[in-house]
Amino acid sequence: MSRIVVLGGGESGVGSAVLAKVKGFDVFLSDMGKLSEKYSAMLKEWDIPFEQGQHTEDLILNADEVIKSPGIPETAPMVQKVLDKGIGVISEIEFAGRYDSAKKVCITGSNGKTTTTSLIYHLLQQAGLNVGLGGNIGKSYAYQVATEQHDIYVLELSSFQLDNVYDFKADIAIITNITPDHLDRYGYNMENYVKSKFRITRNMSSEDCFIFCSDDEITINHLNKIVVQAQKLPFTQKNEVEQGAFVKEDRMIVRYKEQECDMYLQELALGGKHNVYNSMAAALAAKAMDIDNQVIRDGLATFQAVEHRLENVLSIREVLYINDSKATNVDAAWYALECQTRPVIWIVGGTDKGNDYSTLVDLAREKVKAIICMGLDNAKIHAAFEGVVPQMHDVTSAQDAVKLADSLAVAGDVVLLSPCCASFDLFKNYEDRGRQFKEAVRNL
Ligand code: ADP
Repeated sequence: MSRIVVLGGGESGVGSAVLAKVKGFDVFLSDMGKLSEKYSAMLKEWDIPFEQGQHTEDLILNADEVIKSPGIPETAPMVQKVLDKGIGVISEIEFAGRYDSAKKVCITGSNGKTTTTSLIYHLLQQAGLNVGLGGNIGKSYAYQVATEQHDIYVLELSSFQLDNVYDFKADIAIITNITPDHLDRYGYNMENYVKSKFRITRNMSSEDCFIFCSDDEITINHLNKIVVQAQKLPFTQKNEVEQGAFVKEDRMIVRYKEQECDMYLQELALGGKHNVYNSMAAALAAKAMDIDNQVIRDGLATFQAVEHRLENVLSIREVLYINDSKATNVDAAWYALECQTRPVIWIVGGTDKGNDYSTLVDLAREKVKAIICMGLDNAKIHAAFEGVVPQMHDVTSAQDAVKLADSLAVAGDVVLLSPCCASFDLFKNYEDRGRQFKEAVRNL
């Protein structure tokens, strides 16, 4: 019996272990950290041996193949030892793809993955299809392949999840955009990060579709250097295209083969220029899957925003509070500021990922009346915006940020949490940051 060792015991690793078990492998899971209750219970229930707090080499280096969780970098000593021994290292996505004949719509990009993935899932569900949602969102893809049966999967794939795919093939692949992010994992080399995103197009044939943003220079530059077999479908807000999606006056228009679907931008459920991109990408994918125009229009008009993405929390004394805690990089915050039409009190800061704030300076000057820095080290934010924005303050909790915002705001203002940064200095993760913010707003 072949032996599969899974490194990492989170959603992806445990899902992979369950699938390997179902497929009859001798499975072992090892995690250097501590597993959550939920995942250790699942492994016990499936009768899968595992260890935590250590990697026992004897139990790992006898593997025929290793499935590495996306959170573990290739440079981790155990992964290096596995590679040195010549053992193949794959990702959960590669492994699960081997056992799944469903049609796959796969979404990657620096920003907009979850929104676009959820939009497409919503459209396909509204069309009455038997569709599963997975990848970086919700239940792992591998766990679903092990325990459920779907005709189609819509998968959100991070670049870490794409790093170890080889034979996996998407039927429809989408790159929403590419801006610098996670460069620490790619040797501070943008080219490596871009290449990892483009792995989503591997193995595609002329029957398949590749959907991308032709307004995104980084995407276009890379696309000009490589051969993608799939049919290329751009979406753009700059010019008209024969095949793909574009904006004309107050409408978005989708053209695929002989078909055309159009919709007023005003009817889109999600506001902001970035969501016009996301909606176009989703509509294109739906059109390529032959979904009815009316289903697409209704779906894009009725979609409910995903939590922590420009989520309107409450209006208190005519001050609107918006939770955009998922804006963990500069580009995401740019779009959040860009779509504001009222004076903004901007809560920003956290763990800096090597940010360059210069692209935000003009928007901040135009729209922001006060900055509240919410982080342990706010020096870079002060350096970037001091003199640009009339007032700057520092706090170290969501509660203090909201109280201060409340005292600064007047009717008609917006209080926007769009931090540009990771959350780990003060919070468990971005969800925790967003929930604490919302809780503080509700307590005002
Ligand atoms: P991801 O899953 O790629 O992190 P999300 O859909 O969760 O993307 O959105 C993350 C952040 O990026 C949010 O703050 C959101 O408002 C912003 N955003 C969403 N779509 C886009 C886009 N197409 N371009 C830039 N920013 C976006």
